[in-house]
Amino acid sequence: MPARIIDGKAVAAKIRAEVKEAAAALAGRGTTPGLAVILVGDDPASRIYVNGKKRSCAELGLYSEEHALPATTTQAELLTLIERLNADPRIHGILVQLPLPEGLDEQAILAAIDPRKDVDGFHPVNMGRLLTGLPGFVPCTPAGIMELIREAGVEIRGAECVVVGRSNIVGKPVALLLLAAHGTVTICHSRTKDLGAVCRRANILVVAAGRPGLVTAGMIKPGATVIDVGTTRLPGGRLAGDVDFAAASEVAGAITPVPGGVGPMTIAMLMRNTVQAAAWSIEGSPF
Ligand code: NAP
Repeated sequence: MPARIIDGKAVAAKIRAEVKEAAAALAGRGTTPGLAVILVGDDPASRIYVNGKKRSCAELGLYSEEHALPATTTQAELLTLIERLNADPRIHGILVQLPLPEGLDEQAILAAIDPRKDVDGFHPVNMGRLLTGLPGFVPCTPAGIMELIREAGVEIRGAECVVVGRSNIVGKPVALLLLAAHGTVTICHSRTKDLGAVCRRANILVVAAGRPGLVTAGMIKPGATVIDVGTTRLPGGRLAGDVDFAAASEVAGAITPVPGGVGPMTIAMLMRNTVQAAAWSIEGSPF
């Protein structure tokens, strides 16, 4: 039986509607959630992402401001801007669009953001809180993946979960979230021996490698839930996931498409984090 398609657009739309309502309630109490987006340089893909984030803010009733800086911006200039935004009461979330141009120290820049405004969840404090199970901001793509797994109605507790990829922005945090939800988690990477054998053990398989076609149907356990995070722009413009979708759909129990799976969730979770930051700014944050 072909797999159920997990519709990321529909799940994201539901979350966006909730966020819109929460933002309106906060605005009614005098606090409009505000997001500052910093874009350094002129990377075309980054420009598209930033435009999408601004558009979402406008649609959901959030205040947003863009700080577009030239690629020649120095570390000191960027840190000065972040300090100013850290102190700005209209701004509840600060997002630095990655990747940054060569010469800028990404880790130092991310660490300069006030953790209470770190809506991307990349600050070491938020990473540490995720690791230790304390409340904080969870990175948006991993948080979106968890929503999709829940939407698929899959029991994570006790399930064999395999994550392919160990980046700080997807692989590691999603593995921690699955562990917190009581999954038995294995993390694979480029040095993993016999990736297929490990993947075949998974009841829940999350693939975030950025390698189109890496996961074939033969690597999927019948009935498994497959979340394809990969997004690679192929020559010709098509967006490809990491999973051979057509063949995998014949084996998996539920699967996300690319596009239309994880992608729409990322911005929805960013909007949710920004509204959470605004709420914490008036109700008191847990940290
Ligand atoms: P990344 O930093 O390049 O990490 C890729 C990971 O995959 C690394 O850990 C790497 O292992 C592993 N890997 C690469 N080739 C492998 C192979 N042949 N077998 C097993 N593991 C392999 O990428 P990322 O930032 O995590 O992103 C991953 C993908 O998700 C990309 O396609 C990206 O565009 C996409 N993405 C999508 C969204 C969205 O909103 N939809 C958001 C973020 C990322 P090593 O550590 O050993 O090198």
